[in-house]
Amino acid sequence: MMIGNKEENYQHCLTRLANSGNKVTAPRQVVLQALCELHGHCTSTEILQKVNELDANISRASVFRVLELFSRLAIVRPTYVNSSTPEYVLLPENGHHAHIVCPGCSKVTELSICPFESQLDQIAADYGIQLTGHILELFGYCPSCSVAG
Ligand SMILES: [Zn+2]
Ligand SMILES: [Zn+2]
Ligand SMILES: [Zn+2]
Repeated sequence: MMIGNKEENYQHCLTRLANSGNKVTAPRQVVLQALCELHGHCTSTEILQKVNELDANISRASVFRVLELFSRLAIVRPTYVNSSTPEYVLLPENGHHAHIVCPGCSKVTELSICPFESQLDQIAADYGIQLTGHILELFGYCPSCSVAG
């Protein structure tokens, strides 16, 4: 689950892109808009569809180039939960993303709480790093896959 509203997340990520020294081009804006519309948890197929709805002039290849750049900047990160197709997760500024993946059926349960919350400031201070976001992936059997008894 993405924390914060769509518009705020969009503005935060746009600022991060601009601050990274990369140009804010139309394809980059549209891909970011698509990611926010999709609530920050989506496959490349869903992103391609949404981008196409928003601006049909943006090619498939440029969407993938933008996703590559965003991944490098940790604006999104790919996770490989359901198949070999990565699912992209948007990391809003100082954002948090946590989910539990079932090794039995690949069901993904999103967590709205952050187990790190109270420790983030300490981690940033200890390592001298300005944190911009994190993904936490937990693994465990869901109720339908749990062995009875
Ligand atoms: Zn998730
Ligand atoms: Zn399961
Ligand atoms: Zn967190």
